[in-house]
Amino acid sequence: MKKIGVLTSGGDAPGMNAAVRAVVRKAIFHGMEVAGIYHGYQGLINGNIENLDVGDVGDIIQRGGTMLHSARCLEFKTEEGQRKAISQLKEHGIEGLVVIGGDGSYRGALALSKLGFPSVGVPGTIDNDIPGTDYTIGFDTALNTIIESIDKIRDTATSHERSFIIEVMGRDAGDLALWAGLAGGAETILIPEVPSDIDGLVRRLEQGYERGKKHSIIIVAEGVMSAGELATLLKEKADIETRVSVLGHIQRGGSPTGRDRVLASQLGAKAVEVLMEDRGGVAIGIRNHQVVDYELSEAFNKAHKAELSMYTLSQELSI
Ligand code: ATP
Repeated sequence: MKKIGVLTSGGDAPGMNAAVRAVVRKAIFHGMEVAGIYHGYQGLINGNIENLDVGDVGDIIQRGGTMLHSARCLEFKTEEGQRKAISQLKEHGIEGLVVIGGDGSYRGALALSKLGFPSVGVPGTIDNDIPGTDYTIGFDTALNTIIESIDKIRDTATSHERSFIIEVMGRDAGDLALWAGLAGGAETILIPEVPSDIDGLVRRLEQGYERGKKHSIIIVAEGVMSAGELATLLKEKADIETRVSVLGHIQRGGSPTGRDRVLASQLGAKAVEVLMEDRGGVAIGIRNHQVVDYELSEAFNKAHKAELSMYTLSQELSI
């Protein structure tokens, strides 16, 4: 391939910039040209495309968000939209595409590959919910942002002897809640992968109060219910007062951690290697510390699994 394109799509994630930089520089190092496609699939359909040089991706490895911007695009879900996208790619002399995003973005990359345009998916989402890779780019940074918030909330929870419910992102996956809860020493973690036992939670809180424990941190994944709903349930069931904190979009921002920058660099570079071999319909990931590539369709055939041994451990450690 002489020229490839790169875009970021779906929810932004810290480390996307580092991945874009890796794609651009790896490709240029190997004698290819690179086009940056702005505003995700919408920008692709609209021809929002510009060549990127080595210097264009300078000073971005440390920045959160994505310099290529991200967007959601309904038109691209139709075959007509996808064909428009392919004609734009061809018009710009682009022969392969790297898509950095979450599972919706992967479906788009798979659709392009099925229509004969080689596309490769790089996992960029804080949710860590893409099957086939142990980690996604952005997860580690979001995790650390949440931990920092838990630590701060714990200070006020202890001082005022209050129980807090902290709602964290993750869509249908409990990874962020589970990892952050374990790392933040939360007393209770509710994740979508484990049926919520609200009566059990009430009992644990009441036993804690009887022992003189006056504060508690409860982490609830957004895929279970909102923190407000849980607070209402506890109030109605057992007259338990809690304070609610919804962390929201701060979880998606910030300078990427070292782990996310390294992961993004490795996975972005691997995507270019795959395109250099004229392969498409491929996803890039990391398994057991090894960078791997696998069929994009595999990302949809399997379900993402949270590390449930960590759930058990969190219960054992929060007695
Ligand atoms: P995140 O998980 O962080 O939200 P995502 O990539 O899953 O990221 P989505 O909004 O689901 O975010 O998808 C991003 C874009 O991918 C959509 O706006 C759409 O253009 C495209 N896309 C999603 N699903 C499909 C599909 N089934 N076929 C083709 N394109 C799709």
